Amino acid sequence: MVHFVGAGPGAPDLITVRGAEYLKQADVVIYAGSLVNPVLLGMCRENCKIYNSAEMTLEQVIEVMKNAEAEGKTTLRLHTGDPCLYGAIREQMDLLDELGIAYDDIPGVSSFCGAAAAIRGEYTLPGVSQSVIITRMAGRTPVPEGERLSKLAEHGATMVLFLSAGLLEEVEQELLQGAYTKETPAAIVYKATWPEEKVLYCTVGTLAKSAAEAGVRKTALILVGDFLQSSYERSKLYDPTFTTEFREGTSR
Ligand code: SAH
Repeated sequence: MVHFVGAGPGAPDLITVRGAEYLKQADVVIYAGSLVNPVLLGMCRENCKIYNSAEMTLEQVIEVMKNAEAEGKTTLRLHTGDPCLYGAIREQMDLLDELGIAYDDIPGVSSFCGAAAAIRGEYTLPGVSQSVIITRMAGRTPVPEGERLSKLAEHGATMVLFLSAGLLEEVEQELLQGAYTKETPAAIVYKATWPEEKVLYCTVGTLAKSAAEAGVRKTALILVGDFLQSSYERSKLYDPTFTTEFREGTSR
């Protein structure tokens, strides 16, 4: 059996209870060494075999899983944040299907949630934005043409950019072709929930400059949108005059 587990954004106590239990029991652990907090590996059994996938190919990862399976061992594949975002889990799962190896997927706290917590922010403010666009700037890995940043920027919705901290000049250009202006608020959240977490508040027009001044080039999320400013509408859910399934609203 292979367990794909979300390690959370960084702080070791942000792995789920289930993920931690599986981590304590695993015979083999393959962790994404570029981003998973190595402190988590302290939970592993003494004789657990640990591999860093940052130095491995897909084929090598599958080989380790296959060999462990042949010996009746349990493998845990530890991905950063939640495995469903930029985790490259699908290609692993498809190969495991071909080999007839069973697996499951234990969710984790994605870094986009860790970044919101770092700024004590709410992405979906009433009257401001009710959608979150999670995307990335095209770099060495392309993005489908229909999802070009400038096109997604037309919505003016809350935006969270992964894997783009090293491309901020291009990001600015693309965002400005959409509904955002140079003054639209933005934030760069470096290593959310890690001890070295850093938040840089800036605007769309100063993204590249702010990151350069702080020396941030990777392991950061770019948050964009008016949810970062102060005005919004109150929620209907907690409005005294609004009736819900659970509460009768009072007349004004
Ligand atoms: N599956 C992960 C994302 C992996 S892609 C998740 O759900 O978070 C790797 C990118 O995620 C990094 O380049 C960076 O943009 C972002 N990232 C991961 N951990 C982060 C953290 N603690 N703080 C800020 N960004 C982070």
